[in-house]
Amino acid sequence: MTSPARRPIVAGNWKMNYGPSDAHDFVSGIFDDLDAITSVDRVLCPPAISIAAVHALTQKSGIMLGAQNMHFAEKGAFTGEISPLMLQGLCEYVILGHSERRALFGETDELVNRKALSAFAHDLKPIVCVGERLEDRDANMTERVITTQVRGSLAGLPAERLGELVVAYEPVWAIGTGRAATPQDAADVIAIIRALLAEMYGAEKAAPVRVQYGGSVTAANARDLAALPDVDGALVGGASLTADFVAIVRAFAESVA
Ligand code: PEP
Repeated sequence: MTSPARRPIVAGNWKMNYGPSDAHDFVSGIFDDLDAITSVDRVLCPPAISIAAVHALTQKSGIMLGAQNMHFAEKGAFTGEISPLMLQGLCEYVILGHSERRALFGETDELVNRKALSAFAHDLKPIVCVGERLEDRDANMTERVITTQVRGSLAGLPAERLGELVVAYEPVWAIGTGRAATPQDAADVIAIIRALLAEMYGAEKAAPVRVQYGGSVTAANARDLAALPDVDGALVGGASLTADFVAIVRAFAESVA
């Protein structure tokens, strides 16, 4: 069960799935059930081209939207990119530094940090992803990798606004593999993340940061994850494309009931 001071947040990262018409149909199908679970922050993260279609459905509801990525600049010659100004009014959240962005598109901690600073400057709440690869874990390097990512990606953020920050601990080996981290493994690394944030910003300022777990979260394992005191929600990939997403949100709602 998450701390009473931190409201659980479950976000669905649709990745490159559901164009505007499919997005409309999918959200219409889960809308009532998802909207009814008011004790959890519910965030849908469609591909950029579908954000407006989903926003048209959710704007008068408690369901929030997030982007899957953004550029740090407001405008300019950045072909194919989305700017923070374009997301304002549509999205409250933006996922930054997802492991697929890091591994497939070369995003570094420095770039993720520029994006996170830009998100704060434009009143978008960043969901910053960190996580070790299997070879890191096997080489007992998890703590070192997480430390580098947290210190690098989350440097210099406005300390007074850390309640707007979400960190997603997503072990790379658990993403899309069907092999979720054990609750104990997730709890151990999330404790490291919390200790680092406390070192960087002071315990009091860091306390409201919400830390999610992500990596093969399903309707079947969500309850065990939600029961952990330091897991404030989930970042969900594959299962966010089905009604299982609602069941995952419900598991977190039950953990705070
Ligand atoms: C993700 O991509 O952020 C993710 C956690 O994916 P999955 O739930 O499919 O493992």
